Amino acid sequence: MIHPWLQPTWQRVIELGDRLPHALLFVGPAGLGKRELAEALAARLLCDAPRADGHACDHCEPCQWRLTGNHPDLIRIVPAADAAAEAAGEGEAPAREASGKAASEQIVIEQIRDLQASLSITGHHGSRRVVVLDPAEAMNVFTANALLKLLEEPPAGCVFLLVSSAPRRLLPTIRSRCQQWHFARPSEAELAHWRSGADRDTQALLALGGGMPLAAERLAQAGGGALLARFVRDIGALQAADVLRLAGQWEAWLKSKDAIALGFGLPELADWMLRWVADLCALRMGGRVRFFPAQEGVLAALASRMSVAAASACYNELVQINKVSRHPLSLRLVLEDMLMRYARATAGARG
Ligand SMILES: [Zn+2]
Repeated sequence: MIHPWLQPTWQRVIELGDRLPHALLFVGPAGLGKRELAEALAARLLCDAPRADGHACDHCEPCQWRLTGNHPDLIRIVPAADAAAEAAGEGEAPAREASGKAASEQIVIEQIRDLQASLSITGHHGSRRVVVLDPAEAMNVFTANALLKLLEEPPAGCVFLLVSSAPRRLLPTIRSRCQQWHFARPSEAELAHWRSGADRDTQALLALGGGMPLAAERLAQAGGGALLARFVRDIGALQAADVLRLAGQWEAWLKSKDAIALGFGLPELADWMLRWVADLCALRMGGRVRFFPAQEGVLAALASRMSVAAASACYNELVQINKVSRHPLSLRLVLEDMLMRYARATAGARG
């Protein structure tokens, strides 16, 4: 399925027709649907009779193979952990292999060697073969170099579709071998229709995540709405005297099984704090709430009694805390520090 905000890109891909390069690299923020577009393109390329809208027909023999997951000429190269998660459904973490050891988060060199071997054999249905590789940044330099050989001398009829949310982590040689397609964040207008059909949690998480629709949807489905509700409740009612108690509660929260399963840790929490204070600053300076629209009332009450200086100082301090949040020396100390600074900045707001 192609999301409405990707339709223009889809049209441009289709219009390329036979001029489609043998290697494409889809880059852009996570949660936009790059992988879905790659899959739709793979389906189209393998289909015997694509429809007028460019999509695969879903009826011909190759489409039937694909839909049952048995198309020998559609090769997906993904980290073992992602493959296990896809098979088990989202939210299963950490993925484990049959042997019991944690599945790799990386695309490993054996996968590229296997790919080389299978591409050296002629395709099964015609000469067309499609390789979907996602995420392309999950390769070390050896693995990337093995892939590079394939990109430099591609087997006839083979199309490589690489997907990456962190293209700077790719080898420049890989990037230069691919035609790059940049995916931009959807505009408000492009999101309007989708938003109207989304549930409340998704809408709240969409605002918070800065407009990444699929990322918001995934987080909402996994239970992100409950995390957000707790954050808003705790931070909206925080009193200076409660800072240490809340820091202890948040530490336990971040260490809980649910939070870990969702990938919700200190960096994510610190990011929410920063956005919360960004909204306070915006309101204080006559702007509008951007990240927490449902809490506009609480935010406005807090902001109206804060000084501009306190709001912006607090924002700057939280930016610094965000920088260390991936590798905190002590989780508890960072939480206490973060909440203390916030409580001090909003102290005037409590009267
Ligand atoms: Zn078909």
